[in-house]
Amino acid sequence: MSLVVDLHSHSLYSDGTLSPKDLVQRAFDKGVNVLALTDHDELAGLGEANEQAEKLGINLINGVEISVSWLNNRTVHIVGLNIDPNNQQLKDGLASIRQERIRRAKKIATRMENCGIPNVWQEIVEEVGFEAITRTHFARYLLSRGHVKDMQQAFKKWLGKKGKAYVSGHWASMEEGVKWIVDAGGQAVIAHPVRYDLTRKKLDCLVAEFKAAGGCGLEVVANRYTRDEVASMASLVRQYELLASVGSDFHSPDNKYVELGQNLDLPANTPAIWHDWAL
Ligand code: AMP
Ligand code: MN
Ligand code: MN
Ligand code: MN
Repeated sequence: MSLVVDLHSHSLYSDGTLSPKDLVQRAFDKGVNVLALTDHDELAGLGEANEQAEKLGINLINGVEISVSWLNNRTVHIVGLNIDPNNQQLKDGLASIRQERIRRAKKIATRMENCGIPNVWQEIVEEVGFEAITRTHFARYLLSRGHVKDMQQAFKKWLGKKGKAYVSGHWASMEEGVKWIVDAGGQAVIAHPVRYDLTRKKLDCLVAEFKAAGGCGLEVVANRYTRDEVASMASLVRQYELLASVGSDFHSPDNKYVELGQNLDLPANTPAIWHDWAL
């Protein structure tokens, strides 16, 4: 039997809209056999996700997506798979990143307020609270109040690098992020490597440094990669003797283009990160 594997997804413990329970149920309904919950810098949803996975008989992988800063303060996301959610170093590290998220969120709110939108910070705190607060929350805020027509526009006009309310985050170093994952018994994977706007040369640098730090995987298939991008990431995996991961990066049923477990097949002869997992 072939497995349907999806190793990248979010719940409302970060910027997803489903509870962990509903996320796991949806994965089950879509035929997923192996699902990783990988909330941004947060492990709090894993307990509930595991409970539901056990009920349904699907494999839940304890995961996380860590924000790290690399090379002139670029943000890179590192997914950790099969981490121990009780590992203290990992928990402390993620708590420090969430503090930085709050610092950045206050600045984002101030910028929006300076552009004429009143009470942003107060309303965001009431709606979201302080846990793993992300730019996605601000994008939804702008959308719900009619300041933008869709999420894309929220990032383009306001929250993306060239946006009016862009504030960069200062996260952990890549070495730290990878070490937290490895020390917690997990495998570290570079998330959506084609999304960082890096030249091939810079991407090579990133992968080489990541591997030297103890990382072992690359997301070869993710939502909306082109065929060429998949082939290129698969060749990078072979070149650096890494393992291939796949993940939808599902956030919400509201996004019609991204579904759990769909179109994530690995190209032939690409070593899957789950090949030696006890599934
Ligand atoms: P943050 O980690 O707070 O910087 O927020 C990053 C999150 O914003 C990503 O994980 C995505 O979920 C979301 N995001 C980034 N760019 C876009 C975009 N162009 N459209 C929709 N969501 C985006
Ligand atoms: Mn996200
Ligand atoms: Mn990401
Ligand atoms: Mn993600």
